[in-house]
Amino acid sequence: MATVTDLNSRIIFNSRGTETIEIDVVTDGKHLGRAAAPSGASVGTLECRSFPMNSPERAIEFFEENKSRFVGISADDPTELQGVMKDIDPTPNYSKLGGSVAYALSIASVDSAAKAAQIPLFKLLNKNGPYKFPFPLGNVLGGGAHAGPGTPDIQEVLILPIGASNIGEALRTNFKIHKEVRNVIERYDGKFTYGRGDEGAWAPNVTNDEALQITEKAIENAGFNLGQNVAMGIDFASSSLWDDKAKKYNYSRKGKALNSEEQIDYVNGLIKSYKLIYAEDPVNEEDFSGMSLLTRANSGCYITGDDMLVTNVSRLAIASKHRACSGAILKVNQAGSLYDALQFANGCRSEGVGIITSHRSGESTDSHIAHISIATGSKMIKTGILGGERLAKLNELVRIREYDLIEGMAEICST
Ligand code: PEP
Ligand code: MG
Repeated sequence: MATVTDLNSRIIFNSRGTETIEIDVVTDGKHLGRAAAPSGASVGTLECRSFPMNSPERAIEFFEENKSRFVGISADDPTELQGVMKDIDPTPNYSKLGGSVAYALSIASVDSAAKAAQIPLFKLLNKNGPYKFPFPLGNVLGGGAHAGPGTPDIQEVLILPIGASNIGEALRTNFKIHKEVRNVIERYDGKFTYGRGDEGAWAPNVTNDEALQITEKAIENAGFNLGQNVAMGIDFASSSLWDDKAKKYNYSRKGKALNSEEQIDYVNGLIKSYKLIYAEDPVNEEDFSGMSLLTRANSGCYITGDDMLVTNVSRLAIASKHRACSGAILKVNQAGSLYDALQFANGCRSEGVGIITSHRSGESTDSHIAHISIATGSKMIKTGILGGERLAKLNELVRIREYDLIEGMAEICST
């Protein structure tokens, strides 16, 4: 057992240059675990609070006042730490402690315990396996809340290297297509400056439809077959487009607004035309019946809840009642602690909902989510595409291959 002997906290900066919380947990006087909280730009309204009173300083102050209560507990199992956190902050959304502290503390703790046990983190979190590599969803072209004016309304056009037989091949495929997307964009946007959004996806001045056509063309130019060895996906992040008063989705860059039925028709049309295997937040976060219609109509496509589920077991229960989602984004910081996120993952597995472990658009250079994706049996992992903070997670997957504990790639539904 690894026993917590010391804790420390500080404010550092994320990939957007915004303040975040980093926490160190030391076990047995020598094993340093460290983690920093990420942060989103398209944030679900039901996500937990990142900081008490929106203040990272207040989060640090409160943590420092209470940290002695964690000394002496076991770091091996997230349950004991969760119990102490909930004694200190019984609120359901971590409004006293802050979700960023809950994230960093719970992950630094298991990071330290894995080092003490000299085993990889994924094995500490899931003792018995089976372990599979998730398919990396590459974000190749985007807009919305992750990029500036003139870019598509759609937040992320994604690719999935479904024909890859190992993680190295999967990553090579994604990077090859990402490079080719830039070449194709130049034919559509003569003034393209090679600008990229928060996650490394190209951010050109093109329409939604052009963004999808460009990606399809790039897949073909790079020597792959759409739907056979590479599939496409979309994160609509449609709560960002939804106007709750007008009850319309505002595609302002397209100069169009769609009502709920039109949005569902639009999404169904795109799934068909581009053989999409993945559609994230295709309707706004409260439209469980719209999600359910899409899920029923598209058995070969993961209809995935991000802002809808916010990595929360109660939201998963509502979605399950509606049979609303075939895929679920798992973002630890939406839930707060690692314990909360693992409970959510258990719920997804028992409901037969595919898990997609995800980064946030504002990230640290930590790599823990690579391990969390394997431990939770995730079908896919979302890490953006380029930038040191994105590569930290992807390169960790490459390193994990050396443990020889992983039995190939995850099984995903067929197109
Ligand atoms: C997403 O919406 O899936 C995403 C990663 O973006 P953000 O972190 O801005 O929510
Ligand atoms: Mg999303």
